[in-house]
Amino acid sequence: TIDAADLKRMFDTIAVAIEADRDRLCQLDGVIGDADHGIAMALGFNAVRDALAPLDLATIEPTALLNLAAKSFLNAVGASSGPLYATAFMRAAAAVKGKAKLADADVVALFHAMAQGIRDRGKAEPGEKTMVDAWQPAAEAAAVVHAAGKTLSQSLEAALAAAESGAEATKDMIAAKGRSSRLGERSLGHMDPGAASAVTVIRAVRDGLA
Ligand code: ADP
Ligand code: MG
Ligand code: MG
Repeated sequence: TIDAADLKRMFDTIAVAIEADRDRLCQLDGVIGDADHGIAMALGFNAVRDALAPLDLATIEPTALLNLAAKSFLNAVGASSGPLYATAFMRAAAAVKGKAKLADADVVALFHAMAQGIRDRGKAEPGEKTMVDAWQPAAEAAAVVHAAGKTLSQSLEAALAAAESGAEATKDMIAAKGRSSRLGERSLGHMDPGAASAVTVIRAVRDGLA
């Protein structure tokens, strides 16, 4: 099972991975956006790491930890990814309310809650060239593999693979949401930066919870 200490370690892993990916994410955003996505994500996850650092992991519950992550991410990030990830973490918190330890099914539910939270907050559907195109297939793949009776690491592996192909597929999409939608067809051929960072986050979740 996964407890608050595991979640904290997972967020630490995400912060390191996003920091390492920061320049590439800014470059991707520079092509179809305003070149700040790597900075926004690094600010957000570094703020989460700082907020979680002093927690007493023996007493805090996953819900409280995830709500704190949401709050600190939102406060740190002015870009659109701020409220999107903050909503994702708040929904994740609600999905595991009252649980001190998370079973595999809870982790799968957490993915689903995050993807749905991002969709709701951004009013984005799959195919609109956003981070939803990585998070949604990742959540679905995790659920399918879990339902087939596989281990958590197999579910997370499947989530990562689905996120990677989902992000790749955004190259063939015309942006319909967010800043890049102003480009219309000129957004074709380029990967959505939010989908690219989602892959990095999901890879770090796999690594952090392994
Ligand atoms: P900003 O565009 O404000 O600079 P970021 O650069 O941090 O914000 O994030 C841009 C990413 O946010 C996009 O690549 C896309 O994946 C995601 N995004 C933007 N608008 C939406 C939306 N309405 N729904 C879902 N995701 C969105
Ligand atoms: Mg941007
Ligand atoms: Mg911006």
